[in-house]
Amino acid sequence: MTDLISYEPATGAKLWSGPEGNADDTVAKAREAWPAWAALPLTKRIEAVRRYANRLRGQSDELADLIARETGKPVWEARTEVEAVIKKVDISVNAYAERTPQRQLSAQQGMRTALRHKPHGVLAVLGPYNFPAHLPNGHIVPALIAGNCVVFKPSEKTPATGAFLVEAFTKSGLPDGVVNILQGGPSVGKNLTANPNINGVLFTGSAQTGIALNRQFAEQPDKILALEMGGNNPIVVWDTDDIHSAAVLVVQSAFLTAGQRCSAASRLIVKDELYDRVVKEVKRIADRLIIDEPFSKPAPFMGPVIDNDVADGLTESFLALMSAGGRPIKHMARPVPDRPFLTPGIIDVTDLEERPDIELFGPILQVIRVPDFDMAITEANNTRYGLSAALIGGSAQQYSQFWSMSRAGIVNWNKMTVGASSEAPFGGVGLSGNHRPSAFYAADYCAFPVVSMEADQTRASIGIGLKDEDHTAVEAK
Ligand code: NAD
Repeated sequence: MTDLISYEPATGAKLWSGPEGNADDTVAKAREAWPAWAALPLTKRIEAVRRYANRLRGQSDELADLIARETGKPVWEARTEVEAVIKKVDISVNAYAERTPQRQLSAQQGMRTALRHKPHGVLAVLGPYNFPAHLPNGHIVPALIAGNCVVFKPSEKTPATGAFLVEAFTKSGLPDGVVNILQGGPSVGKNLTANPNINGVLFTGSAQTGIALNRQFAEQPDKILALEMGGNNPIVVWDTDDIHSAAVLVVQSAFLTAGQRCSAASRLIVKDELYDRVVKEVKRIADRLIIDEPFSKPAPFMGPVIDNDVADGLTESFLALMSAGGRPIKHMARPVPDRPFLTPGIIDVTDLEERPDIELFGPILQVIRVPDFDMAITEANNTRYGLSAALIGGSAQQYSQFWSMSRAGIVNWNKMTVGASSEAPFGGVGLSGNHRPSAFYAADYCAFPVVSMEADQTRASIGIGLKDEDHTAVEAK
C-alpha cells in the first residue's frame, strides 16, 4: 500500500504521512452505519454536529495552524477559514429547515398531503486543497444533518487537515462509520466514485475532474452529483473617482490566497481612458504585497502556492501568455529557489488574437482594455466558465445592465469577486458547476422530497364508472 505524504509548501518540511485508504472497505463501513443514522430523530443529528462545532471552537487555533502549515496560507487567513467551518453548522441547520422542510401542504376531509425529505444514503465528498476544511465541511455538515453517511476523500495535498476534521467528528461522539476518512489521490478518488454502493458525489475541484465525473455518472441518473468547479472570473473597472479603492478591490480579488480561489479575478477589464491610472495603481499596490511564510511577522498578504509543480505550471503559463503577445506589466517571479512562492504576475493580453480560456489557479492577472461598456460585458462573458464577476465603479444603470447580462452565479458591485457569504448559495454556470450550488443550497441535494397523501382511516368509494350490484350502470352525478 502506498503512503501519502504532505509537505509544508512554505518550508518543504514533512507535515504528515499515512497510508492510502481502501475505498470499498470504507464505503462498506458507511453503508453499515447508515440505517441507524438516518433513523435518528433530526434533533439528535443536529445535536451531534453542534458538538462537533463546539469541539472545533476549542481547537480553533490548532486547526488554523495546521491549515496554514499545510496550505501555506497566512495564519490570519486560516483563522477565517476555521471561523467559517464552525459557523457552517448553524447555517446548515437553518438551511435544512428552510430548503428541505417537513410541511403539511393541505388538509381536508380527513386527508392530508405532507412533504418530507429523505437522505440519499452514503455520499462521497471529494475536496480541493485551497480551502481544505471549509469546502468539504460545507458538503459534509449538510449531508449529515439530512441523514446521510459520508466518505470524505480530502485532496492528496491536504490530508492532515482532512484527518483533523474527521477526528473532530468522531471525537464529538458521532457513531462509528457515519463520517469516514479515505486518504489518497485521484486513483483512490476513482475507486470511491466507482463503488456501486455510494448514492452520490459532492465534489469541489477543477472543471477537468468535474467533467470526468459527469461522464462517469452519465448512465447513473439515480446518483446525485454536485459539481463545484473553477472559474476564469472577470472584474470590470469603470468610471470611478476612487481609483485607489478600485485597485485595492482588484488586488484583493486577484491575489488573496495567492490567487488560489475559485472566485478569484483572473481578468481585469478596464475602460480605455482609465487604463493608465488603474493599471499603475494596481501594480503599485501589488508591488507592496508581503509574500511570506504563514507565521512570519509582519503578517504576509499571501503565502506560496500549494507546491513546486503548481508554481512551475503557473510560471510556464505566464511565459506562454508573453510568447503569445501579452505585454507584462509586472513579471511573476520566484523569489525563493525551490519553494513555490510567486510574486503576483500582471500581464496585458488585449492584443492576443486568441486568449486561452483556462483557469490559471494562482496569482496571475490578465488585463484587457475596452473602449465601451458593451464591450466590457462581452469580454466579461468571453469564457466557458461562469462563477463570479464584479463591476467596480459605473452607474446604477450600468450595474443593472452588467447584472442582467453577466453569465455568472455571483455578480457583485463595488465589491471583490471573492469572499462570498456562506449564508447564500454559492455556485456558477458554464464550466463552473452543474447547477447544484453549494453553501446555503447544499441542503437541496443532500435529501430528496417525498410527498405523501395520508388519512387516518381506510375509507374509499368509487363514485363513477361502476356497475350496480344488479349490473346496471351507476348514474354519474
Ligand atoms: P482537483 O480537481 O485536482 O481535485 C479535487 C479532488 O478530486 C481531489 O480530492 C482529487 O484527489 C480528486 N480527484 C482528482 N481526479 C479525480 C478523479 N478522476 N476521480 C475522482 N476524484 C478525483 O482540484 P484541486 O486542484 O484539488 O483544487 C483546485 C480546483 O478546485 C480549482 O479548479 C478551483 O477553482 C476549484 N475549486 C472550486 C470551488 C468551488 O466552490 N466552485 C472551490 C474551491 C476550489
